[in-house]
Amino acid sequence: MTHFEVRQYDAAGRLGELTVPRAGVTVQTPTILPVVNPHVQTVAPATLESEFGAEILITNSYILHGSEDLREPVLERGLHDLLDFSGAIMTDSGSFQLAEYGDIDVTTEEILEFQHDIGSDIGTPVDIPTPPDVDRERATEELATTQERLARAAEVDTGEMLVTAPVQGATYPDLRERAAEHAAATGLDVFPLGAVVPLMNEYRYADLVDVVAACKRGLGEVGPVHLFGAGHPMMFALAAALGCDLFDSAAYALYARDDRYLTVRGTELLDELSQFPCHCPVCTEHTPADLEAMADDRREELLARHNLHVTYGEIRTVRQAIRSGNLLELVDSRARGHPTMLDGYRALLDHAEQLERTDPVSKDAFFYTSAEAARRPEVRRHHERLARLPVEGDDVLLTEGSSSNQYDESWGVLPPFGPYPRELADTYPLTAETPDRTDRAAHEAAATGVARLVDLHPDVSFTLLHDDWPVTALDRVPDRVRVRDLHANE
Ligand SMILES: [Zn+2]
Repeated sequence: MTHFEVRQYDAAGRLGELTVPRAGVTVQTPTILPVVNPHVQTVAPATLESEFGAEILITNSYILHGSEDLREPVLERGLHDLLDFSGAIMTDSGSFQLAEYGDIDVTTEEILEFQHDIGSDIGTPVDIPTPPDVDRERATEELATTQERLARAAEVDTGEMLVTAPVQGATYPDLRERAAEHAAATGLDVFPLGAVVPLMNEYRYADLVDVVAACKRGLGEVGPVHLFGAGHPMMFALAAALGCDLFDSAAYALYARDDRYLTVRGTELLDELSQFPCHCPVCTEHTPADLEAMADDRREELLARHNLHVTYGEIRTVRQAIRSGNLLELVDSRARGHPTMLDGYRALLDHAEQLERTDPVSKDAFFYTSAEAARRPEVRRHHERLARLPVEGDDVLLTEGSSSNQYDESWGVLPPFGPYPRELADTYPLTAETPDRTDRAAHEAAATGVARLVDLHPDVSFTLLHDDWPVTALDRVPDRVRVRDLHANE
C-alpha cells in the first residue's frame, strides 16, 4: 500500500503520512478527524483548518444523501465547497444509523457511488456495527455480511477515492483478528475498527485494548488504522501505543453542548470548575464564571473551541512522544487519570510481545516511573536477548554492586531488566533512569531475568549479590544460585 508510510515507531505507535490522492494532501498521523454535522456546525470547517490546523475531517454521507435541503447542493457544488474545507474529507456511510435504527435505505454500492459523486476523499461501505457482548452466533453472522459488503466495495469503481474496510467482530478477539486479516486482504485503503464506542462510553478500556490488539494482529502493518468514534483526548496515547493512527471526534461538540470540558485526565463539568486548568486562548481569556454568564450558543462555541484545543494539543503531544521514544511514559502518566485507564494500560502491557515487534531497539531514555514499567517491551526484549549473550566463565557473579575478581566473570544487575554484561551498561535500555526507592515489581522482573540466564547455562555456577530484594523476588531465583544481600555481614 503506497498511500500510507510509517516514518517512526514507538511501541506499536507510529508516526505516519497518509497521502490522500483525491484531495491532493498528505495528512500527518496520528491525527484526529473532527466530526462535522452538515446541518449544525459548532465550529466552521474553515476555522478548524485555519485555527486548529485540521488536515482532515469526517462527515456523514448518509445524512447528506437523505437531506432534502443539502442533497442537490452537495451533488452540484461538491463536499469541499459545501463545507468550505480544502483538506481531506472522509465520509461515513450510515452504518451508525443502521446500528441505531435497525434499517437504512441504501446499499454499499449506492452509498459509495454517492460518496464518490459528492467528492469525498475517503469513502465507507455500509458495514454492520456489531455491539460488544452479543452472542457469538450473531457476531459471526453479522461479520459475514460485513465481509461480503467489503468484497463488493472493493469491486466498485471509485476512482481516486480511498475506501475503508471496517473491522467488526464484537468483543471476540479471534473474530476481530480474522475480520482484520480479511479486511487487509481486500486491498482497500483505511481500516476503521468499528463498534468500539460502547466500550469507551462504559470506560471498558481493558476490553477496548484487547479488541484493538486483536485487530492489529490480523491487520499486521498494512494501512492506517482508524479507531472509530474515539474522540476523548484522555485515551489517545493509549490507543496510539497500540498502533491506531486516526481518531474522530464528535465529543468536542457534543460535550460542549452539555457544558462538559475535556482534559487529558478526563471530563469536568463547567459548573464545578472555579479555574480553567488549561492554557488555550479560551481558558486564558475567560473564567468559568464568564462562560456561565454567557448566552447558550456563545458558551457552547467557546467550550467546543477549548475542547478542540485540548484534543489537537494531545495529538501533538502523542506525536512528539513517538518522535522522542517516550510514548509509553506518556501512556503511563495518562493512565493515572482514571482507574479504568490504568486497567487499559495494564491490558496494553499484556500485549508487550506484540508491541515489542515494532518497538525501536534503541531510544534516548527509559524512565522507570511506575510498577507497570517492569512489564514494558524493553524488559521482555532484554530477557529474550540473554539467550544471545555469551557467558565465558564457570563461576559467575551477578551483582548490583561493583565487580569482583574472585569470579571468572562479573555481570551487573539492574532492576527491572536483571543481569547484563558490563560492556552493555551504556546501551539502551540499560541506561534507564530508575528511582532509588524502587519497587517489588522491578525486583521481581530482575529476578525473572536472573532465572532465565541461569536456566540457559546449566553448567555455570552463579552467585547473586542483590540490594535488599523482597522475598517474592528471591523466590524466583533458582535454588542452585548462591544468593547474598549486598549489605549483609559476611
Ligand atoms: Zn482551554
